[in-house]
Amino acid sequence: MLIDELWELQQLQLDYRQKERLLQELDLSSSLRKKIAETQEQLAELQSQLETFRAEEVKIAQKLEDITTKVHEASARLGKEEMSEDKVQKLEAKMKKLTQDKEKHEEAQSRNFHDRQNVDDQIRATQLMAEKLRKELDSIPQSDAASKAAVKKSLPALLKEIETRKSKLPLDAKLIFENLSDKFSGAPIARVTSSTCDYCHVRLSARTLFSLRNGEEKGSHAGNLIRCEICGKILYAGSGDRE
Ligand SMILES: [Zn+2]
Repeated sequence: MLIDELWELQQLQLDYRQKERLLQELDLSSSLRKKIAETQEQLAELQSQLETFRAEEVKIAQKLEDITTKVHEASARLGKEEMSEDKVQKLEAKMKKLTQDKEKHEEAQSRNFHDRQNVDDQIRATQLMAEKLRKELDSIPQSDAASKAAVKKSLPALLKEIETRKSKLPLDAKLIFENLSDKFSGAPIARVTSSTCDYCHVRLSARTLFSLRNGEEKGSHAGNLIRCEICGKILYAGSGDRE
């Protein structure tokens, strides 16, 4: 019967789609793995930048301490010692220079602080990104390269089988099957269980049920396909349900 052929065709079609989806997921998981590795590299680079900033900060702080000590020493001498005008001028010039040096280092300290904060922010963002990618990867079913190759290899034969079966269908049935396949993600046929369409779960009318039971004698063309009045799918009552 035509409807049995179409039902088998739908099974093949769904199998094909499911395998294609699996391959896409596998590609996605390998690209996620690559992204995670790149993120780890970025993180290592940022950590090393952070270390450099920290070391620099210690150096600047040390230098500032030295300068402050020198300024104190100079100002103490200026207050205490009896010294010539010439010496006083030299000492004052030295203090001025020390003060400028101090300002310069304080600026460097603040710059370093901001740069370091910037790197800190980048590290946090990168860590969040890595975590997000890892979660995404965990949500994808894992499969090895060998099974991926096997699935990939089986696809052309499956597609050929589907095309061969389609080419043997009456043209009108083929067109309906293909149009509804596009509309319903490859599943144009709904099973009938307990007088109900399995897709939209609506109880079928007496007329539709009558046609399903009596459709068998009419032969193989699309006019004999019974459609659900609600969702429009082709209805399939398995041979057990037809009695
Ligand atoms: Zn329906």
